[in-house]
Amino acid sequence: MLRHAIPCFLLAGALGSMGCSSAGAEASRARAASTEHAIAITHVTLIDPASGPRPDVTIVMVGHRITAVGPSASTPVPEHAQVHDETGHFAVPGFWDAHVHLTQMGMDSMPLFVANGVTSVRDMGSTFGDIVLWKQAWSTGQPAPRVFAPGPKIDGKGELWGDNWLVTTPDGARRAVDDLAAYGVDFIKVHAGLSRPVYDALADESRKKGLSFAGHVDEDYPAAWAAKSGQRTIEHGSSMVPCSDTVRAQLRADPKLVPLLKWVCASSNDDVMPELARAGAWLTPTLVSWRGKTMLLKEAPSLEGYRYVSAALEKRWLGDGEETAPQPIEREVLAQFGPLAANAHRAGVHLLVGTDIGDPYVVPGFGLHDEMQLFVEAGIPPLVALRSATLEAARALGADATTGSIEVGKSADVVLLDADPLANIRNTRRIGAVVQNGRWFDRAALTALLEPLTRRK
Ligand SMILES: [Zn+2]
Repeated sequence: MLRHAIPCFLLAGALGSMGCSSAGAEASRARAASTEHAIAITHVTLIDPASGPRPDVTIVMVGHRITAVGPSASTPVPEHAQVHDETGHFAVPGFWDAHVHLTQMGMDSMPLFVANGVTSVRDMGSTFGDIVLWKQAWSTGQPAPRVFAPGPKIDGKGELWGDNWLVTTPDGARRAVDDLAAYGVDFIKVHAGLSRPVYDALADESRKKGLSFAGHVDEDYPAAWAAKSGQRTIEHGSSMVPCSDTVRAQLRADPKLVPLLKWVCASSNDDVMPELARAGAWLTPTLVSWRGKTMLLKEAPSLEGYRYVSAALEKRWLGDGEETAPQPIEREVLAQFGPLAANAHRAGVHLLVGTDIGDPYVVPGFGLHDEMQLFVEAGIPPLVALRSATLEAARALGADATTGSIEVGKSADVVLLDADPLANIRNTRRIGAVVQNGRWFDRAALTALLEPLTRRK
């Protein structure tokens, strides 16, 4: 395990919790306070992710915070506020994408988040350099999401890489956690291929450092073990799908499909969902990334937002191999993650909406709406899909005191929709305006964010 020296000055001003405390941060807060302005959204139907719709509400935001939420008839609007009468429209909290890889996405694509109402993201493995740049973009008032990040992910089998640290011994795991804690990461990302002793050391050291850990499960740390060990979130649902003997035999018969046995099928068909629910672990099924594994480039134009996908990201999608059409059995098993997510919900497991940006055919920003739609198509109620894309992500990161819903004292992140997302989840795409960290983007401003990224008609 190499020690990565990240100079403190690099992190200073990056904010979030990543990095050393900084005078620059204080100065930028002071600057922000002096230019505070007020926004009032009146007569809107507020959709509270915890409890559902509240008609005719006024939301007041001053600077970066929400300062009042209440019935329009009795909630005073500050005299100097910019007032937006949103009669007939719907207000939801700024969305979270709880599984992104910012390094893989590239900074050029940054506007895709706010243009889609995504005001916060949880990175799941990127280089320190990129995380610092993205955090700076948010803290300096650019149209960027708030970022929670683990820095590089901890992996047991891959290579040492900028967004990946190779750890093969329990001592190495403890050193890695200590180093990441010193750099001020928001949590630890567990990746694949760790042995049980390495995983246990990582879990133990994270607890000692007061950091949560989240990520993959693998043979040596299956979902039930991970949840019991305190792993906060379980990504993808890989190795969790119950597969019949017939399906297993079909996969085993084709060398190209053998990896699916491990990626998809659970080693035992025992129902682990009650254990996840009991442990309070979240599941991020990343349905949109599983869907992408059955897609071909010629189908990409059917994806919303495809015309804004950068050349670099598209190149990443395609890799170096030739695309081959998926076989029926492949489609069949990869379609099982929707039912898995619905089953988790019914068992009382909380879910997160995360897309795994960087994976094939996951369009940044737009993919978040696809993911919510896939939740609902799998049988998850629209309000639960919305909650999983807002409040649950904030809860999973321990950030729900300041974000995740439209409440007094929380950050001014609000999405205004022209139609009711509870009536049809596709309405989350009908964005009329976005308030991102207190800054108002009307429809024209959101469109202007997208225009420079257009690559195709
Ligand atoms: Zn990922």
